[in-house]
Amino acid sequence: MIYFDNAATTKPSKTAFDRAGEYVTEKFYNPSALYVEGYALQGELKKARSALLSKVADEAAFEWIFTSCGTESDNQAIFAFARRGNAITTAGEHSAVSAAFAELKNRGIDTRIAPLNADGSVNVEKLLDFVDEKTSFVSVMHVNNEIGAINDVNAIAKLVKAKNPRTIFHVDGVQGYGKIPFRLAKEIDLYSVSAHKIGGLKGVGGLIKRKSLVLPPYIIGGGQESGRRSGTENVFGIKQFEYAAEEKFKTLKADYERLTKYREKLWGLLDKELYTRLSQESGTPYILSVSARGLRGEVLLHMADDKGLIIGTGSACSSNAKNRYSKVILACGFDEKIADGFIRISFSPATTENEIEEGARLLNEIGKDLARRMK
Ligand code: PLP
Repeated sequence: MIYFDNAATTKPSKTAFDRAGEYVTEKFYNPSALYVEGYALQGELKKARSALLSKVADEAAFEWIFTSCGTESDNQAIFAFARRGNAITTAGEHSAVSAAFAELKNRGIDTRIAPLNADGSVNVEKLLDFVDEKTSFVSVMHVNNEIGAINDVNAIAKLVKAKNPRTIFHVDGVQGYGKIPFRLAKEIDLYSVSAHKIGGLKGVGGLIKRKSLVLPPYIIGGGQESGRRSGTENVFGIKQFEYAAEEKFKTLKADYERLTKYREKLWGLLDKELYTRLSQESGTPYILSVSARGLRGEVLLHMADDKGLIIGTGSACSSNAKNRYSKVILACGFDEKIADGFIRISFSPATTENEIEEGARLLNEIGKDLARRMK
C-alpha cells in the first residue's frame, strides 16, 4: 500500500512510541499527585514542553501549553482574544479556524476574511486593508493544508503590528511545525501545533504563546498547564510527541530538500492531458495538489484506494461537509470543473522514490480509465 495522505495524518513514529512506552507500563501516575512517583512526571512534562518549544521559538519569550489537538489550540486562541471590535482571517483556513470565525460572527464580532492569491497564499495587501484601530485579532495559517501554499507569517505579523500594535496575531501552524524551516518572530503572539502531522499521536496538540500575553483558560478544572488548560495530562502522548519531534527536526532540512525533488518528480511523471497542477513550487514540498479536470476527485480517490494507493481530496475533517467543492480551491480562483477534479497527494519523510514512481503510474492509469468511462 502507498500512503499519500500524510497531510491528514502521519503514521506514528514506532521508535518514539517504544521510547514513551514506560509512561504507560511503569510511570503511569497522575502528574498532579503529591507522592514522588507522580510529581516526578511534572519534570518529564517540563522537559517535553521545553524540547518542543525550543525547536521553533526562543524559550525566553515564548511558552508552550499542551492541548488535545490543533483544533483545540486554534479555538482556544480565537475565543480568548477575538472578543471585541473586528477579527480578521483568510479564505484559506482549515475549518478549525473558519468555523470558529463563523461562530464569532454569530456572537456579533465583525469578522473579515482576506482573499487568496492564485497560489493559495493570502493576499497580504487586502488583509492589511482590513486592519484598523478596532482589530483585536488576526489569524493566518502558516501552511495551507489543501494547496500547500506557505504564508510568510513572520512578515505578515510585523506588518499587522505596524498598523495596530494591540492586535493579537495567531498562526495555525499545524501543517508547518516540524516540516518548514522556521522560527517564530517576536510579533507572533500564538502558534497552534498538532502532534499527529509529524509522527505523533492523534489527540495531542500544543499552543505556543508569547509569555507576556495573559491567556484566559478555555477548559477550567484542576489547574493543569498553569491553569490555562485543565485536565490530567496525556503523559504518554506528550512524551511520544517529544520523541517524534526530536526525530523529525533532526532531518527537517534534508527531508525538505528530498521531498521537493519527489514532489517535482511526481508532477513530472503525471499525464498532463489528465492533470492540471494547482499547488505551486513555492509551496510546501509535503503537498502536491492537482486536478483531474472534468473528472471527479472523489471517484479517483476510491479507484486509487482499490489499487492500494491512498490519496486525499482536501481536508479530511471537511469530507462530510455539504459543500461539494473545496472553498479554498475556489478562493484561489479556480473554476468548479477544476475544483471537482481536485486531489491532494501528501508526503512524509518515509515516502520513497519507488512510491513516487508507482504512485504516478497508478494515478495515470486510473485517470485514463475514468476518462475513458466518462466518454
Ligand atoms: N489546522 C490545519 C491547517 C490542519 O491541517 C488541521 C488538520 O488537518 C487542523 C488545523 C486540525 O488539527 P487536529 O486534527 O489536530 O485537530
